[in-house]
Amino acid sequence: MLAPYAVHPEHSRGRRYSEPPHPYRNPFQRDRDRVIHARAFRRLENKTQVFTRRYSDHFRTRLTHTMEVAQISRTIAAQLDLNVDLAEALALVHDIGHPPFGHAGERTLDLRMRQHGEFFDHNLQALRTVEDMELRYVEFRGLNLTFEVREGIIKHSHDYTAAEHPELAEYFLEQRPPLEAQLIDLTDEIAYSAADLDDGFEARLLRLPEIRKHVPVFERYFVEVEKQFPAAPDKLKFNEALKGVLNRFVTDLIDNTRARLQSAGVKTLDDIRNYPERLAGFSFDVERERREVKGFLSQALYNSKELEPEKRQAEKIINDVFTHLMEHPDRLPHAYQQRAADEKLARVVCDYIAGMTDHYIEDLRKKLATAKKSDAASQ
Ligand code: MG
Repeated sequence: MLAPYAVHPEHSRGRRYSEPPHPYRNPFQRDRDRVIHARAFRRLENKTQVFTRRYSDHFRTRLTHTMEVAQISRTIAAQLDLNVDLAEALALVHDIGHPPFGHAGERTLDLRMRQHGEFFDHNLQALRTVEDMELRYVEFRGLNLTFEVREGIIKHSHDYTAAEHPELAEYFLEQRPPLEAQLIDLTDEIAYSAADLDDGFEARLLRLPEIRKHVPVFERYFVEVEKQFPAAPDKLKFNEALKGVLNRFVTDLIDNTRARLQSAGVKTLDDIRNYPERLAGFSFDVERERREVKGFLSQALYNSKELEPEKRQAEKIINDVFTHLMEHPDRLPHAYQQRAADEKLARVVCDYIAGMTDHYIEDLRKKLATAKKSDAASQ
């Protein structure tokens, strides 16, 4: 049973190109399946989340991170009687616009675009990916996703203004997104906070005493586990404490969102859309704990000296390939060369690079360097 303020599939604003209904899948189930079958989705397997493959094969990639976000989102959406299929589709698509090499790749691509009076934004790139880059159907470009999925891609984590983005006007930028979309940014945070503590500990970049000292919510669960299982190995005690944190964050998000819906007197989806602020959120205490985890991770992991060389390498690879393709657009794949006839070359190069996996761009850089040498030799 869906809550009255959930997104009901029969009320969907529909697709850009109308299609006959499917005999046994609703529109959001179809969208979820379209995302899973997209090329850009499969490429997430070989895109860095935080750790490159130099570290280990069992750390999160963008794909396994995405699956964790989907799993947590389904649980929370079901508890709140929201549309689980829509929440799942939004979770699966939420990182589809990410370039290779995680945050370092994103920042470098944005810096390069700014030199051409443009910018790079992974949410807008996700929309471009599903609207324009995926080619699966004879009758139209893109995946022809429902309005609600496209709206969620744009609005789940960021409030774009109509003044800055007139091209997004169709998404009612002055309104809040449905709860299914509001959840995604929060489940994303829950998923990567827990995962990065886990992988960071496993990679020995984060040490147990340091985590216990700087992450008070983790410490509380760890003390409990130690009392109960003093002889257990540290890794298992760590796992149990992390499970406690994850469960606390998820439960709090469910309970606090439910309480806010009640006190806001929300009855319909329009009430959610027209409410002056987002209603999905953590309680005051858990919001503080979440910030403490995030602050710790950014100082001890994301901005650590140990990960610095990989970031430098990522910047160098993206810069080299960007520069080379801007100077030699004839080395772009044919389809991209054709697009350069109507679009800014920088945007076409950016789209090409954003779609690449980590190892595709590494290989391409080597090939382009060889081509450069033979150019020099023939001159
Ligand atoms: Mg994410």
